[in-house]
Amino acid sequence: MRIKVSVTGIVQGVGFRPFIYRTAVRNQLKGYVRNRGDAGVEILLEGEEPNVKSFLKDLKEKKPPLAQIHQIITTDLQGKEEYDRFTIYKSSNKAELAGSVIPPDIAICNDCLHELKNPKDPRFDYFFITCTNCGPRFTIIEKLPYDRENTTMREFPICDFCAKEYKDPLNRRFHAQTVACPKCGPKAYLTTREGKTLRFKDPIREAGKLLSEGHILAIKGYGGFHVAASTIKDKPLTRLRKTKHRNQKPFAIMARSLETIKTFANVSSEEEQTLSSYARPIVLLNKSNGYYLSDIIAPALHNVGVMLSYTGLHYMLFDGVDDPAFVMTSANSPNQPIIKDNEEALKTLGSTVDYFLFHNRQIAHRCDDSVMRMHGKHQVFIRRSRGYAPAPIMLQKKAKRCAVGLGGELNNTSCILFENKAFISQHIGDVENVETRVFLENTTKHLIHLTNSKVEAIACDLHPKFTTTKLAQQLAEENGWQLVQVQHHHAHIAALMAEHDVKEMVGICCDGYGYGIDGEAWGGEILLCTEGLSEFKRLAHLERQPLIGGDLATRYPMRIAVAILSKKTDIEPWLMQNSQYLPHGEKEAQVILSQIDKGIGSVETTSCGRVLDAVAVVLSVCFERTYEGEPAMKLESAAANGKDVLKLKPAIEDHCLQTTNMLYEIFENRHKYPTEDLAYSAHSYLAKGLAKLAIDEATRNDVKAIGFSGGAACNQILTSIARKVAETSGLKFLVHETIPSGDGGISFGQAVVGGYA
Ligand SMILES: [Zn+2]
Ligand SMILES: [Zn+2]
Repeated sequence: MRIKVSVTGIVQGVGFRPFIYRTAVRNQLKGYVRNRGDAGVEILLEGEEPNVKSFLKDLKEKKPPLAQIHQIITTDLQGKEEYDRFTIYKSSNKAELAGSVIPPDIAICNDCLHELKNPKDPRFDYFFITCTNCGPRFTIIEKLPYDRENTTMREFPICDFCAKEYKDPLNRRFHAQTVACPKCGPKAYLTTREGKTLRFKDPIREAGKLLSEGHILAIKGYGGFHVAASTIKDKPLTRLRKTKHRNQKPFAIMARSLETIKTFANVSSEEEQTLSSYARPIVLLNKSNGYYLSDIIAPALHNVGVMLSYTGLHYMLFDGVDDPAFVMTSANSPNQPIIKDNEEALKTLGSTVDYFLFHNRQIAHRCDDSVMRMHGKHQVFIRRSRGYAPAPIMLQKKAKRCAVGLGGELNNTSCILFENKAFISQHIGDVENVETRVFLENTTKHLIHLTNSKVEAIACDLHPKFTTTKLAQQLAEENGWQLVQVQHHHAHIAALMAEHDVKEMVGICCDGYGYGIDGEAWGGEILLCTEGLSEFKRLAHLERQPLIGGDLATRYPMRIAVAILSKKTDIEPWLMQNSQYLPHGEKEAQVILSQIDKGIGSVETTSCGRVLDAVAVVLSVCFERTYEGEPAMKLESAAANGKDVLKLKPAIEDHCLQTTNMLYEIFENRHKYPTEDLAYSAHSYLAKGLAKLAIDEATRNDVKAIGFSGGAACNQILTSIARKVAETSGLKFLVHETIPSGDGGISFGQAVVGGYA
């Protein structure tokens, strides 16, 4: 029997060819296997029919752990047998099939970790030790097929020792493209902040010592640079906050081990699993009662972002010191992509850090760390990036056409929807300037190329002024793709429906801002979305509240709080007492009051985020937003141990949940109850009110599923209360599990609207 087998999925860079080789030889088959330019694998088999059948069975059942098989296409071949053995062939550039992709970067495996620590092993202490089961993939691949010469490992020709293992079918590094050792692989070195190389025999452990002593370092990893510092000394952290102009935004940390994490944070078994998975994301963990790390790491938050080491280099940093963890925050200038090149790092970070720990391998594609948190057993993606991108999200239904989503503005990603697979890019960031726009455009094109997709439609936001909208218009024109504009909250709910394959849903969508179909600012919406996903109805929303001073009110939520409270009471005395929280003090307070009086200088919003911001101000939890979501995040932290003392009944008028009275009640009771209880009461009111709105509308429209999406769905208190209310009423309550709830999921929602319609 002679057959040709084409396999699509994630089959390059995961030890697939060696697996095929061994399986073919074991089944006494002849022929070849090779990688193809479309990220798929092509196999030719010759031999007895039962052996071929047994091979195909093994292919499905025994595939390597990191491989994902989407499709196996077999074609019977005529003619005589041509091969006298089974061989791994040189890759072909042929690209015929679409929808395969390369794997994400994979954390160091246990076998490699053992070798790293074994003084007798030739790769003892080699910081970039990898094998077919681990190491960088997405961040080093420049083009397909996945061969060393198409990656940034090209500059490191393998030595005889590594070559021997590379050619040995019984070795774990058989055909491992990233195979390297101290002799032939990338080298690490320490430099001063000016870039002068310091001669150390062991630069990585030296870097660990420098961190422990209180120095700030820039450390190059797989997908970009981190800025690193001590977690137990305040001085370097204070300095870091000052030079990075980052007053409050939490720093992620990398911990020595799981055991160490348990000394300062609470870790559930689900969190433990996620932390140690091969994706090694940053997980937001609740600080324990015995939390002893510096308060400067995550100020006024009840949780802290923790990850475990994912390369040999990271493990070695901890070797010579006792520190429980190091700060490891993405190195980038405000609103710029993460830094990936050595020159750029020297130029940009020289004034921030004391030393650089470089390595001499280029990063082909930058990739930030992923961030998630657990709501009990449910995983919530805050950022889906390293360890996940570009692996596809598998959907139940096939798209009618291949569509790209370019996302919104903040926390952006892009997405290619092909058939039943959604390839979401790594984290791009806030697309407001040239650099992030270029990053978005290049990443999208790279993803289209990697997946060999024939795009037919491009989807973007409804906002006419977004950079992403303009880019989509340009790409549509250049390539003849159909342009589809999708309203922001519609994209969120469509994403949730596609993820769970539900035909109709009443969706609660809460976040900071989205451009509404009426051109107004939306952000606390109840939408009905039905089969086909292409249309939606806005059924209800939060009460409209004024944003005095527009964007200024987002930065200084005192403006919103005052505007809302002034509807119920004479707010002037309180505002004057607290005017120091406005940048221009009393003078600014007077202007605000007169604007409210005259009804000028404001736009209105139904945003849920802005209401939470106002509560944060009234409770003195946060007066200035220095990073996205700050007041609302701090309010959730303040509420973490609270209870509902106000027990306010949701006030619903004409499909609209009132928020003025709720804020007023919080204000009136602010000296009567503890802050944590009032913070919780506000959450409870909003969650119950939104759930009630959704239940009423679902009942009226005979819809069985309620969903919760948008950035506010990352809030555990809101989500758990809304879930309880919805489930008590007998409805299904759905949240995101594999797609970010926040704006990182917008590109996916746009793509499904563009692709299913
Ligand atoms: Zn390994
Ligand atoms: Zn070597």
